[in-house]
Amino acid sequence: MNKVIIIGSGPAGHTAAIYAARANLKPVMFEGMVKGGIPGGQLMITTEVENYPGFPDGIKGPELMELFKKQSERFGTEIHSADVDEVDLSKRPFRVVSEGQEHFAHSLIIATGAQAKWIGLESETALRNRGVSACATCDGFFFRGQDVCIVGGGDTAMEEANYLSGMAKTVTVIHRRDSLRASKIMQDRALNNPKIKFFWNKEVIEVLDPAAGTVNALRLRDTVTGEVTLHPTQGLFIAIGHYPNTEIFNGQLTLDENGYIVTKPGTTQTSVEGVYAAGDVQDHVYRQAITAAGTGCAAAIEVERWLAAGGLH
Ligand SMILES: Cc1cc2nc3c(=O)[nH]c(=O)nc-3n(C[C@H](O)[C@H](O)[C@H](O)COP(=O)(O)OP(=O)(O)OC[C@H]3O[C@@H](n4cnc5c(N)ncnc54)[C@H](O)[C@@H]3O)c2cc1C
Repeated sequence: MNKVIIIGSGPAGHTAAIYAARANLKPVMFEGMVKGGIPGGQLMITTEVENYPGFPDGIKGPELMELFKKQSERFGTEIHSADVDEVDLSKRPFRVVSEGQEHFAHSLIIATGAQAKWIGLESETALRNRGVSACATCDGFFFRGQDVCIVGGGDTAMEEANYLSGMAKTVTVIHRRDSLRASKIMQDRALNNPKIKFFWNKEVIEVLDPAAGTVNALRLRDTVTGEVTLHPTQGLFIAIGHYPNTEIFNGQLTLDENGYIVTKPGTTQTSVEGVYAAGDVQDHVYRQAITAAGTGCAAAIEVERWLAAGGLH
């Protein structure tokens, strides 16, 4: 019987593990191998992280996550390099199944993150972190004074376009339709921003130039006429949504309409007592390593107090 099982090994999972281990909860972590991504989470697929406090010269994402892991191991976190395939949250202790083996715990911290949706082009994949990004807050700074494009028509795309307009020379929103899905207020803000222009009824069919290892243009197709044009740009931001990794919790926890875990405001408590959620899996607003780590810390503290109150610690 475990006091707490942590699912996920990004900034949220490891921070929860550090706090839980130091509170003597002997946490067991499943770091995720296949379905949800990779051990270490989303920062494993990025290069420079310049906004994580404590690293004034920046740090590579994988290097940062190696340090997170070292710190949770130092305090005794038991790490399983495997996915959780199934959970039963209908009764306590909770049952967690991984690679055919059952594990039981009084409490769970879910930190399975979310994955950005991509257009799905080969050239887009080849140029990720080399001019193609899915996070304006993370990477906008690298495009100061440059011309960038953003794909999407929802609130996130408008928010990211406005954010990028504060640093890029020009921002072009590329949208497949002739109207936006974003809320009126977000639309108005973007439409009235002199640095943002819109390409309506256009889709990106190729990002150039993988051979050069950098973005210098987009091949666009008009969704109405089929006309193909070339548009020079130095950066491409994809803002077409995220998939929270919540498939295994479907029907067992309250999720919002986009699949994110719903937590009680101001806490990491989910709809099931004893189950807590931290990081991007419950946050479609900030989606940053530091906020994920912050909620990971909160989850571990809430778990510790809940276990103590129930005489389980
Ligand atoms: C390309 C890129 C660049 C970024 N750059 C920055 C940046 O510069 N600064 C910044 O602050 N943020 C950045 N971010 C965002 C940041 O990475 C995320 O906000 C952060 O990683 C979220 O942490 P998390 O712990 O919630 O989830 P994640 O990092 O997504 O980790 C989720 C973990 O859960 C595991 N998992 C999923 N399903 C299962 C399962 N069934 N069983 C077991 N494990 C499972 C995964 O394997 C993974 O280890 C970037 C994101 C991307 C994609």
